[in-house]
Amino acid sequence: MTTTPVIAIDGPAASGKSSTAAAVARALGAFHLDSGALYRGLTRVALDHDLGAAEAIIQRAETRGLGLVRVGDEIIPFLDGEPAEPLIRSPEVTAAVFRIAAMEPLRDWVNRRLRREASGTRWLVLDGRDIGTAVFPDAPVKIFLTATPLARAKRRLVQRDGAALAPELAAEAAALAARDAADASRAVAPLRQATDAIVIDTTELTFGQQVDAILAVARKALSNKQIPPTL
Ligand code: C5P
Repeated sequence: MTTTPVIAIDGPAASGKSSTAAAVARALGAFHLDSGALYRGLTRVALDHDLGAAEAIIQRAETRGLGLVRVGDEIIPFLDGEPAEPLIRSPEVTAAVFRIAAMEPLRDWVNRRLRREASGTRWLVLDGRDIGTAVFPDAPVKIFLTATPLARAKRRLVQRDGAALAPELAAEAAALAARDAADASRAVAPLRQATDAIVIDTTELTFGQQVDAILAVARKALSNKQIPPTL
């Protein structure tokens, strides 16, 4: 049996998945792919053209060349021949992405692209909501990152504004909780912890500690499964 070369990192919004996953990938010599970026790319397209039907969104996304491109150790979304960042991080995309992510044909479209990237020989550190449960249920390493909504809101605001002031903090924590609730309650591939995932609560951890904790879990899981730690 061949090993699926994927380290799956799932968890709620703003749990530090992407930045941590990127650092973990660098340390392991793997590629990093943030699956949420593809859902955001589809949302950007839907908003730009005021589209609601999955088929129309896919068609337009393909016309505009929404897809994944390898740049260094990252696999990033491109749109219109350019990196899709920062267009896909706008507040309007963040507010609408849960609707796009609930549509099965769009999830299938994303998953086909994720699976294609995992069919090579180099390992992927892949972060999202359903990587360990639905996209790669046989991934040899599954991690579920959590942190309290308050800790996640604080990090998000400090990252965005350089400070986390009380009124914004409460609003941001509420917005994150609403996004998690939408992701966890959808019918298709909802956000949930895989039964065989290792949970890492990052509330009290620094960024470096999060990276080290994931690396330790990944190396242990690989050695338990007798997969060489050199990816
Ligand atoms: O990770 P990020 O917050 O950028 O993801 C944006 C949205 O994309 C999530 O809130 C969720 O609705 C959706 N998503 C998903 N499945 C994934 C990754 C992201 O449904 N694997």
